[in-house]
Amino acid sequence: MEFSFESVESLIDLAGNAGTTTGKLANAFATVQKLLNKTQAGGDADIKLALSELALQVANAKLANADLKLQLTALKDELHEAQVFKSDLDRYTLWETQTGAIVYRLEKAIQDGEPIHYLCTNCIESKRKSILQGTKHHRSCPCCKAGFSFERQAPISLR
Ligand SMILES: [Zn+2]
Repeated sequence: MEFSFESVESLIDLAGNAGTTTGKLANAFATVQKLLNKTQAGGDADIKLALSELALQVANAKLANADLKLQLTALKDELHEAQVFKSDLDRYTLWETQTGAIVYRLEKAIQDGEPIHYLCTNCIESKRKSILQGTKHHRSCPCCKAGFSFERQAPISLR
């Protein structure tokens, strides 16, 4: 994965710092406005216009910044979910059944008390973990209903 957790964290910090900067800008603007009102008793129309333009820009910057922060936080959550999913999937390997179906199988070495089980490859593609259910001959996915054959059935005896 190209994006790392740390890079998103630092972007969020950056957005936070930019917020501080626009906050300072807003304070400076208020100070200038006070001074102008004092010294010029109403002030020059051009200056007033420039100041209201500046106020608008500060407000916009604040909004854009808050929006950016929200987006980055959502991205961080998404990334975290993807990492949790991936580290869980790392415990499984693609495995071919006796009859040639491909499923994900829990690695024996990292079973960690869980029974051996198999995951649906269709559902993994949609970032969904679905444990196959069924018999040793045939299992199916409870989510997407895909069927997977495992061991060959013993030939039916006609005696
Ligand atoms: Zn499935």
